[in-house]
Amino acid sequence: MFALIAVLALVATQIPATAQSPGLRGFPDDAVAAQRQREEQFRKVPDVARLKEYMEAMAGDSHVAGQPSSKRVADWALAKFKSFGLDARIEEFEAMMPWPLETSVELVAPERYTLKLKEPVLPEDPDSGDQTPLYNAYSGDGDVTGEVVYVNYGMPADFERLKTLGISVKGKIVLARYGAGWRGIKPKVAYENGAIGCLIYSDPRDDGYFQGDVYPAGPYRPEYGAQRGSVMDMPVHPGDPITPGWGSEAGGKKNRREDSQTILKIPVLPISYGDALPILKQLKGPVAPAEWRGALPITYHLGPGPAQLHMKLSFEWKNRPLYNVMVTIPGTTRADEWVIFGNHHDAWVMGADDPISGASSLMETARGLAELLKSGWKPSRTIKLALWDGEEWGLLGSTEWAEKYDAELKQKAAVYINTDGTGKGWLNAGGSHGLQQFMGEVAKDVMDPRTGKPVFEEARRRAILGETEADRKAAESDPSLRIAPLGSGSDFTPFLQHLTLSALNVSFGGESPGGVYHSAYDTVKWYQTYSDTDYTYGRTLSQLTGTLVLRLADAPVLPFQFTDTADTLLRYVVELEKLAETKKDSKVDMKPARAAVEKLRDAGRAFEKAYSSLGKASTATLLGRKELQALNQLLLTSERKLGNTEGLPRREWFKHQIYAPGFYTGYGVKTMPQIREGLEEGRFTEAQGGVRTVSSAVNALAAQVEEATKALQQAVK
Ligand SMILES: [Zn+2]
Repeated sequence: MFALIAVLALVATQIPATAQSPGLRGFPDDAVAAQRQREEQFRKVPDVARLKEYMEAMAGDSHVAGQPSSKRVADWALAKFKSFGLDARIEEFEAMMPWPLETSVELVAPERYTLKLKEPVLPEDPDSGDQTPLYNAYSGDGDVTGEVVYVNYGMPADFERLKTLGISVKGKIVLARYGAGWRGIKPKVAYENGAIGCLIYSDPRDDGYFQGDVYPAGPYRPEYGAQRGSVMDMPVHPGDPITPGWGSEAGGKKNRREDSQTILKIPVLPISYGDALPILKQLKGPVAPAEWRGALPITYHLGPGPAQLHMKLSFEWKNRPLYNVMVTIPGTTRADEWVIFGNHHDAWVMGADDPISGASSLMETARGLAELLKSGWKPSRTIKLALWDGEEWGLLGSTEWAEKYDAELKQKAAVYINTDGTGKGWLNAGGSHGLQQFMGEVAKDVMDPRTGKPVFEEARRRAILGETEADRKAAESDPSLRIAPLGSGSDFTPFLQHLTLSALNVSFGGESPGGVYHSAYDTVKWYQTYSDTDYTYGRTLSQLTGTLVLRLADAPVLPFQFTDTADTLLRYVVELEKLAETKKDSKVDMKPARAAVEKLRDAGRAFEKAYSSLGKASTATLLGRKELQALNQLLLTSERKLGNTEGLPRREWFKHQIYAPGFYTGYGVKTMPQIREGLEEGRFTEAQGGVRTVSSAVNALAAQVEEATKALQQAVK
């Protein structure tokens, strides 16, 4: 009795009382104090000086995937993990990765101008200046000459607008500006409309001088700064374009490159506004609509011509190696249940922000776990940490790993946690809604370095601000932190949307400016001047991810919850019912989807009722119950029910029936994608098919939750 009071008093002085939720999801009350104490011990470890050291080491040189410099960073991280005392190794894969042999663009009429296609070194920042050629990975080879058409952001609606203005891009080279959607969509839609080439430039209105001073005077994109990046058709599938669905290893089975569905058919190149200006200056034809105009000192015309370009691009198409750095901390009592946490290590150039800010934070999380191991702790579940290679090209390292271990991951992976570049501001959290309550709980235990208050508070406020006016009231009265559904754009995609595993994606941001993304100016100096300058948010991210990992690794019952999933799915159903009403010819009947979601809601409520007995259960008794194993297996495989083997129409690699990147948005999410895209694009039979697949997936999840409820009742009896 005295000992217990002493423990409680100790814990109470360590943690601000207002921050905590009363219990911990997944833990009986008698296990909460020890768990909280361990988490507190962990959160003291991450150190800003170390984050700075890691960033300076890993982002001190260019390290693009497929080149020896990527191996250098992988080897450095490997040695670091080992120095912490962790079991680490490099796991190698390979992928078809094009490297530019020739990139040249010339304005041939009316006046000649040879595009520079170079990011110059700035004397104020010797780390800047391109050591990686300016190009878009998975562009087609090509030698084309044609008149230019300005296509605004190059999104489907922009091409439609051009048609109404009587301008065709057939046989033309299109000039698009970055923004409004993922870059890969622009040349894809240009090609579908008959264009023979595509240039994508960064207009100063979007991330240059219109926004603020340009680097180095300010954080924004300078005159000859440009945005590299992949244009692989990732909404079809990410990963190696010639091994869709299986791990790509040296000597393994490969498709022919000509048969790849994801390599672009036309040449495409990113350019600076310095290089775009001479082209735009020489365009005639109609003046561009007001909202199409950027911030360059010219009148924006649409063309076509008389500006005419000659564009020549050729690539060396080769299988190149990928180096994933993998750490394993073996579990004791539940070694066959895995908690996985990853961030990529490859960058386009130096990549201080993208991805090293996140990779450094992961390494401090690793060191924190290593410190706990030294103090005698061992996790119940197995923890795997990963620094992926080749993310920038198309999630290559993570996808090949996920595809190789497909069957094992489907059996063993409880949750995949992802981070990528991170900055200062507030917590952004997205992922599987079965983890929403768990995520919110953890966010209450991690403090904002500036305010000293839980990161939960600002995150929730921002999440509500993001809602539409109509939903705001409901969101305000909802005490939970509403996590965002995930589209794509980072390494969670193969786990969440291909294997249909539970996933979370977290970062800090909102106050870091975005002017050097994928350019040679994303340097340590830029990051230390304009982003998380003192690394306190990087430390907070380590504290957050470490707490997520520790709690998932040791919770006797995996902390899933299903009423939040049902509430979220019901919101999607309502949105789609409204969308269906606006489509005159649609007879799409959403009733089966609504009925399935209501069934899940009832099952979720019954689960919560059974769950309410967990707090009073004795941990010792609970751990001895054979039903606990069955319960965790049912929870671990719950997200799997939301996928099917057929996948989405025209992109069978994407199995998840609730979350997918939009076919024509690229990164942006489409929830219940088959229904939503079917309705949006007028394919109503397909949308109705989507209602069937969504309903059967949600019904299957409801049945699984009912099973889990029975196991839970037995386990806590
Ligand atoms: Zn990244």
